[in-house]
Amino acid sequence: MRTVVLRFFDVLRAWLAAIEDVLLPRGCAGCDKPDEVLCPSCASLFGHAYPKALPGDAGCCYGCSWYRGAVRQAILNWKDHGDEECDRAFALVLADLALKVVAQESPYSRTRSLALIPAPSSPSSMHRRGRWQTLPLVRLMARRLDSLGFSVVTKPVLKLEGVHGKSVQASSAQSRSRRIEGHVRVIEDLKGDDSLFIVVDDIVTTGATMGQCISALRAAGARNVIGLALACTPNRDE
Ligand SMILES: [Zn+2]
Repeated sequence: MRTVVLRFFDVLRAWLAAIEDVLLPRGCAGCDKPDEVLCPSCASLFGHAYPKALPGDAGCCYGCSWYRGAVRQAILNWKDHGDEECDRAFALVLADLALKVVAQESPYSRTRSLALIPAPSSPSSMHRRGRWQTLPLVRLMARRLDSLGFSVVTKPVLKLEGVHGKSVQASSAQSRSRRIEGHVRVIEDLKGDDSLFIVVDDIVTTGATMGQCISALRAAGARNVIGLALACTPNRDE
């Protein structure tokens, strides 16, 4: 009897999913083209390696795209409207970016050992979104890079503490830098680890958070650190 009831609910669940697909077909996260998570045209917008200067002495990070138009729409749908089906598509473009940056940066071109670090989220934003959104990205990136022969670990070692408010809303680089300063903490000693540490964030605006993450990792002993993002706000001349 119990088996029959469970089977009934399985069938019911499948029917409800089918009805939902008919009533609420998904569109591309970037442009709403039907039946796509991320259509080829929008996916191609993420196929770059744009350098973005960071404040202080952190150097630069790289973005798959500039944060505007369909890119902005796709990331907002994923980040703030729960479109978790984008996780895989975004992880793949970030893995491609990692390959490009590793190949083009001569000190790292022979590197096979990677440590992927999700950029930290504040407890309040994790509570609001129900998850640490960069963590599934790095886990899926790790699978992809591992399949390409890299030795990859994911290290969620960065914590953001005592920060209030939405990260992208801060008005200036200085105010954001001040707000973050002292709040990025590395919870592991990284001395002696020769891996290439790759901080992965979704959006880099002023670069303050990314800069702080890179500095904090270096201070914890990481020798080789780069930063990658799905998108960066364009530099003045773009
Ligand atoms: Zn699209």
